[in-house]
Amino acid sequence: MVSLEIERFAFRQRIRVEGPFFQNTFFAPDLELINETKKRFLLILGFINGGILVISGGLAYYLAGKTLKPIRDMVDEQNRFISDSSHELRTPLATLKTTLEVNLRDPKLTLKNAKKLVKESITEVNQLQSLSDELLQLAQYQKPNSHPQLEKTSLDQIVLDVVRKLTPLAKSKNITIQNRVKDINVIANKYALADLLTILIDNAIKYSSPGKKIIITAVKHDHSVEFSVIDHGIGIDRHDLPHLFDRFYRADTARSKDNTSGYGLGLSIAKKIVDNHHASIEVKSRLGRGSTFSVKLQSAGSK
Ligand code: ADP
Repeated sequence: MVSLEIERFAFRQRIRVEGPFFQNTFFAPDLELINETKKRFLLILGFINGGILVISGGLAYYLAGKTLKPIRDMVDEQNRFISDSSHELRTPLATLKTTLEVNLRDPKLTLKNAKKLVKESITEVNQLQSLSDELLQLAQYQKPNSHPQLEKTSLDQIVLDVVRKLTPLAKSKNITIQNRVKDINVIANKYALADLLTILIDNAIKYSSPGKKIIITAVKHDHSVEFSVIDHGIGIDRHDLPHLFDRFYRADTARSKDNTSGYGLGLSIAKKIVDNHHASIEVKSRLGRGSTFSVKLQSAGSK
């Protein structure tokens, strides 16, 4: 194509020199020059095409990487979730299996001890069941594009329902729950909000000693509502605070405290719920004094 154009150009130049001043004069085109020009043109075109190819290839690679990044992050997150979960499930399952096998092989196992073993195994299985329930709940809330339907919701009604549900548990530990939330609407998903409150109040009960009081309050701001779950329990060390919402994170104080079962999943579920509401969650705590978990939600006006 380019060669053809050059030849045509050279031919046109020849016609022009045959004009009125050079009548009957024939200037043959310089073939060597034409060939040289052709080569140069081809070389330059080659460079330009190569450049375009490299730039467009690089651009395509960059754009593809940018587009695929969220998908890659999601797959990485899913893989981490699966491996963390199987790790958490494997240890108690292996312990349970070994205990049962050892006792089964014991010829001197009495009926009394066998019953005790079955009872302990049931407790273990119950804990594993609650772990798998929490894992399912977390998976549900962290599903991509799982944005719950947000609508005008009565915060005081949800708090009332959750407090009613958890009162027997609090009573069993001689803990009182004081509900101070009145007449407040928020923009939320009522099921997710109930799950969030359940996690925070359940933790407050779990990490308080008998005789303590838990208070639930809510304050209206211009466009938001901030509700808090305040306890006077064991508190949280300030070194633990930045990690509380990480999956499977448990502070040493919680791990060493007797009778506080848990897998460190509650607050990561709570954080997912808060994120799905475009809301925020904050913790203030003093070791040995107690903790306050506050959530700021979008207000839906007063009743
Ligand atoms: P867990 O099942 O261990 O309670 P969470 O994710 O709900 O898991 O909480 C993570 C950790 O945060 C707990 O193990 C505990 O150390 C700490 N924590 C949460 N809530 C409280 C609280 N109200 N008082 C003291 N520590 C708390």
